Parts: sequence; C-alpha cells; structure tokens
Amino acid sequence: MKHLAIIPGDGIGKEVIDAGMDVLDAVCEISSFDYDGELFDIGSERYLANGELLTDEDIDGLRRKDAIYFGAIGDPRVKPGILEQGILLRMRAVFDQYINLRPVTSWFPLVPLKREVPFDIHFLRENTEDFYMGAGGTFDGRRKDAHIKVKREMYELDIDLEAVSSNGDDFAFEIGLLSRGGISRFAEYAFEYAQARGEKKITLVDKANVCTHIYGMQRAVFEEKSKEYGMGLEYMYVDAMAMAMIVRPETFGTVAVPNLFGDILTDLGAQLQGGLGMGGSGNINPKGVSMFEPIHGSAPDIAGQKKANPIAAVLAAQMLLENQGYPEEGCMLKKAVRHCLDSGLTTPDLGGRLTTGEVGKAICRHILEQKK
Ligand code: ATP
Repeated sequence: MKHLAIIPGDGIGKEVIDAGMDVLDAVCEISSFDYDGELFDIGSERYLANGELLTDEDIDGLRRKDAIYFGAIGDPRVKPGILEQGILLRMRAVFDQYINLRPVTSWFPLVPLKREVPFDIHFLRENTEDFYMGAGGTFDGRRKDAHIKVKREMYELDIDLEAVSSNGDDFAFEIGLLSRGGISRFAEYAFEYAQARGEKKITLVDKANVCTHIYGMQRAVFEEKSKEYGMGLEYMYVDAMAMAMIVRPETFGTVAVPNLFGDILTDLGAQLQGGLGMGGSGNINPKGVSMFEPIHGSAPDIAGQKKANPIAAVLAAQMLLENQGYPEEGCMLKKAVRHCLDSGLTTPDLGGRLTTGEVGKAICRHILEQKK
C-alpha cells in the first residue's frame, strides 16, 4: 500500500487531479497497486483566508508520504510569485527534489511537426543549481572598491567589483553555480535512468563553449561518471539542441540538462508533444519524497468549465507509478492514453468535445479493458 499526498491546488488543478485519481483507482482495480490518498488543502484559497502557504505541519505530513500528487497553483487574486515561491519552490527545496523529469513523447497524430517518426525524449533537468539559485544583485557601480558577498544557505562567494565593472556603471548580476556534489548526483541519476530504459548513452546539454567554468566542470564530472557506468556520453550545445529537437527529435533518449536551459527546452518539448495539456513531470529525490504534477499551471481562464485536458495529470500519475515501482501499471496507463488520442476521445484543446471527467473515464475504461 502506497501512501500518497494529494494536493489538487488551484484552478484546473482540482479538475485534472480528480480525473487522475479516477485513473489511479482503475489501476488499483486490475493490478497489485494500491494506495491511500490524503488530501492536503494547500493553495490560494487557504492563503487568501489565513495567509498560510506551506506550513511546518504540512511539511511534517508530506514527509511521511511515499510521494506527492500535485495539481497546480496560481490565482489571479494573488500577486505573481507568492504562491510559486512559498509553495512550489519551497516544497522542491525542502524535499531536495533535485531532478525534474519531463518526458516529451510524440502522441500522434497530434504533434505539430507532422513527421511520422515517433520520438520519446526524457529530459532530466537539474532542479536546484545553475542560474536559478537566486544568487545575484543590483549594484551601484560608483562604489568601485566594494566587495559583494552572496550568501545562500551553504554558499558564500566574494566577487571583486573591479573585475566586473571598471567604468563606474551600475550593474546587475546573476550567478550560475554548479557544485561537484550537485553535478555528481545529477549525473548518477541520469546514467541510472538511461540504463533502466535500456539505452547505451545519454545526451548532456550545455553551453560549454561560452560558460566555460560551470559547464566545463559539468562535462568533466559527467565524463568520469560515463566511464564508471560504462555508458556513452554525447554533448549538445543548447542552441544546437533547440534546432535538433525540431528536425530530428527521434534521435534523442535520455537528455540531461542544467536548470535554466532545461526550463526553456522542456517548454519547446511541451509544444512538440501537443501542448501544455499533454505533459507530466516529476520533481524527484531518489531517496526522499518526490512530487508528480502536470506541466501546466492553474489556467484560470478555463477553470470550472470542465474543458481542461486531464492527460498531463494522468501522465504525471503514470510517472508516479513507475517511480514507485509499478512500471507495468504505468505502461497500461500510457496505452490507455494513446487509445483515447487515436480514437478522438479528447478535450477541446485537442479538437475533441469531451469534458475533463469524460476523458478521465474513457482512460479508465480502456485500463479496465486491458485486464479482460
Ligand atoms: P499559472 O500562472 O498558474 O501557470 P497560466 O494561465 O499562466 O497559469 P497555464 O495554466 O500553464 O499558465 O496555462 C496557459 C494556457 O494554456 C491557459 O490559459 C489555458 O488556456 C491553456 N492550458 C493549460 N493547461 C491546459 C489544459 N490542461 N487543458 C487545456 N488547456 C490548457
């Protein structure tokens, strides 16, 4: 029995998680997978009512679970950034979910490329370092001799301003930082993930020809790990990777990508596979509590209208199943999604006429049929 935390959150998050739980229930009916789900009231309504984002009590409760199934947060009544930072980013940091897994799969005939070659790229985005650590500042260039001290948890840096701005101009900076330990655990996860998928190599995306320090170190560590694991390693610059994803997506399998570039490439990937309603994602700590969610946000413009596509949330549930040791059940779920797409059983974003719940039920029916 798996113990899951269920956080529907805001907007369409509630609707798609309802459909996703119907699908998980169908999986329980026909397999050895079983779960109990505890609902956590985390999101904009509670924040607006009493100012609470993610409380210590929430964290204690979530820590006791095997995994978290998350819908979406975001609300036009709340200033942008508050819910994202106070809930989502905090949760990723507290549970040190250092891998962001984003599969980009061709769900024909719905991909915009219209190339009849199936692809299945699995992006592993490093989730804690690089340029997204919030280490930076805006500075008065007249204070030429000043030293900037940046503190963020365990990191402390001294930067000589003279070296950065010698003409007295104001400036702003953002530090991209990678640690050897951070790269190592990322590389280990990537090689193990690719091995489990039966692949012989991984692709590492960077911009090592320009950002030589951080990505040079990243290459060195990945190189060491590729020897350790006896796996191949291919390098791609991020600009070349963006082009290659359009012209030859089928040539990629597991792709490791640092935080900032991963953010951009996975959104390109989302469109390649049919839009925001089609992508699941995992925020993973291989030794801790991982969280699985659709890639879209709360979509306030369509909330409450029953037209949100639940497939992204269903694919998040599929990733949760695989992560928790139920790969066959995950596979059933994928087959059921493909069946619905091939049969036109879809929501309006994919040209169909069904509601969120109806697509969920269609997926359930196909799962139950796989047992017969
Ligand atoms: P947030 O700030 O919470 O991320 P957002 O509106 O900026 O919300 P998304 O929620 O990701 O960003 O959605 C962007 C648009 O994509 C929405 O306005 C909606 O029309 C569409 N969209 C997103 N998810 C879905 C879905 N599951 N089904 C159908 N359309 C969707």
